[in-house]
Amino acid sequence: PRPIELLESALSETKSEREKIQVKDAVVHWFKCDLRTKDNKSLHLASEKAKEKGVPLIGMYIVSPQDFEAHLTAPVRVDFILRTLEVLKEDLAKLDIPLYVETVEKRKAIPGRILELLKEWGASHLFANVEYEVDELRREAKLVRSCLENGIAMDVVPDTCVVSPGELTSGSGRQYSVYSPWYRAWVAYIHQNATVLDLFDAPSKNPGSAREQCAKLFESKIPSAPENKKLTGEEKKRFKSMWPPGEQEAHERLKKFCDERIGGYQDHRNFPAEAATSSLSVHFKSGTLSARTAICAARGHNTTKKLDGGKQGIQTWISEVAWRDFYKHVMAHWPYVCMNKPFKPEYTNIEWEYNDEHFKAWCEGCTGYPIVDAAMRQLNHSGWMHNRCRMIVASFLAKHLLIDWRMGERYFMEHLIDGDFASNNGGWGFSASTGVDPQPYFRIFNPLLQSEKFDNDGEYIRKWIPELKGIEGKAIHEPYERGKGKGAKKAGYPERIVEHKASRDRCLARYKEGLGRD
Ligand code: FAD
Repeated sequence: PRPIELLESALSETKSEREKIQVKDAVVHWFKCDLRTKDNKSLHLASEKAKEKGVPLIGMYIVSPQDFEAHLTAPVRVDFILRTLEVLKEDLAKLDIPLYVETVEKRKAIPGRILELLKEWGASHLFANVEYEVDELRREAKLVRSCLENGIAMDVVPDTCVVSPGELTSGSGRQYSVYSPWYRAWVAYIHQNATVLDLFDAPSKNPGSAREQCAKLFESKIPSAPENKKLTGEEKKRFKSMWPPGEQEAHERLKKFCDERIGGYQDHRNFPAEAATSSLSVHFKSGTLSARTAICAARGHNTTKKLDGGKQGIQTWISEVAWRDFYKHVMAHWPYVCMNKPFKPEYTNIEWEYNDEHFKAWCEGCTGYPIVDAAMRQLNHSGWMHNRCRMIVASFLAKHLLIDWRMGERYFMEHLIDGDFASNNGGWGFSASTGVDPQPYFRIFNPLLQSEKFDNDGEYIRKWIPELKGIEGKAIHEPYERGKGKGAKKAGYPERIVEHKASRDRCLARYKEGLGRD
């Protein structure tokens, strides 16, 4: 069975036994990628359960250095999580709810340690939201059963997606592997199920006695980053000012985006020099904002309540947020994508290049293609990259350099503040043509045309490549070919590491060969 089925059967087979368990001294919510108080389904249910008997609700977060390593969590993301926990702890404390944070070195030890903590606290109920990665689904399926063996009811509820994986099947009962029909079904499902977009209230205040009963837990400290994920002092300062943490910040960012930019999203979203997108991905990933809340806010700005109607900008933005759901649905139903395998098995035989020099040039933003280099430098400096540029650099790595796309996928995870396995894997699969509903393999982005189309006056390039600041006019897109390299060479900007046409031809031949086509 697929890991999602393991969890579903663990939950359904234990349901009646779990329902018999009486609330004891405490109820616990396990925070993972849902670091918020508002519109958090599991936290809300945990709070209701605690209220039933007037016992305290305890929030728990487990930091695991080995888990960070296994998920290739970028240091910038670890830093963001830890800063967010500080804010969450304060938000919960206002409700007299403690946030207990503990470091558990080995990820395998997490379930055992959680059981010990639950027993120590006399907790009868543990609540958590579902995460769809393979390891997490398997872990939670086991934990549901071992909790029950210890007289504890564990509930794992769907929350992160607007429409949960498994809810949408085609007319013939199959899972969708193409976005457009899946999106139509997603829209129809929301229209038919009015409660899907109901938001969950923040938890109620704990009883007054909780402060005393949980005194030690309120003293729990947020640890500093583990050794393997430490930032330098300069990086810490930089990321702190670029990416303020917390739920309140996420809501303000969402409101500002809806008030000022969502209307123009359709027309402006592809131009990386413009701040036309929401930059909310970091909040969706850490769960400081729920996708439901975001869609409700967007809908609130529309003239129609139809998700696929009204203002084009709003409609398009909602359909982008839906991509996040789509890729989680893919991961849940084709879990082999989590195991380094392409979604389309026929792409397994492509012979990749493992050219270290080329890979290093790509990582460092020194390929001689300004749009590619600007984008990689944006990533390295800020932990984030514009979507159009993610597609350009991914296509360049897989197709122009013919480097195994999984090396790029890994590099992204190790550097993105919004690094999310499902979306990242989906984006790489799309760009390398190996994934679910990808662009066809013979569609190879021409970096020069992309540059001229989406950064016509070179503003984005000049921002991120100081060596090219002085290059004027169209030469910014290819300083050596058009500008004869004048300023660029002097400033130390490299010449192209590969030539476009030759790379294109090599790529087409190699993909055809791998696919066994003439
Ligand atoms: P907006 O344009 O404001 O979109 C709103 C939200 O919709 C985003 O925050 C995001 O949650 C979702 N979204 C938008 N586009 C996509 C998409 N193509 N796929 C999935 N969700 C989408 N997104 C991540 O969150 N994490 C990743 O690790 C990630 N890796 C990517 C790798 C590649 C190669 C590509 C091509 C795309 C990747 N994306 C990833 C998707 C997309 O680039 C980012 O979500 C987007 O750039 C974030 O900026 P924003 O919040 O301003 O987006």
